Amino acid sequence: MLLKKRSEIVAKVDQLGAHDPAEVANLGFGKRIGDATAYAVERMTDAYQARTIYATVTDINQALERIEEGTYGRCVSCGNLIPDDRLQAVPWAALCVPCSAKPGKSRIVR
Ligand SMILES: [Zn+2]
Repeated sequence: MLLKKRSEIVAKVDQLGAHDPAEVANLGFGKRIGDATAYAVERMTDAYQARTIYATVTDINQALERIEEGTYGRCVSCGNLIPDDRLQAVPWAALCVPCSAKPGKSRIVR
């Protein structure tokens, strides 16, 4: 399930990666100013999405490492089991709900 999710997200990253500067330059030709502005806004959104996706890919890779270690499904902060419903919503969740709610503890890196 995680592998499937990861391949979906990696495909999405590839899709976003297609928006390279050369492509943007080509799209700029023969278009009205308004289109260029809309495209610039779209690019900003893409950049934001790309950062979010890269962060998610990192989380998924860490989750896959935890599967190999046999620690998957346990909170990396307190060691408690992460509830199944949370794992189904966020399969790469590294923290249990109480720990993820703690300020400043949402991005724990071991
Ligand atoms: Zn915890």
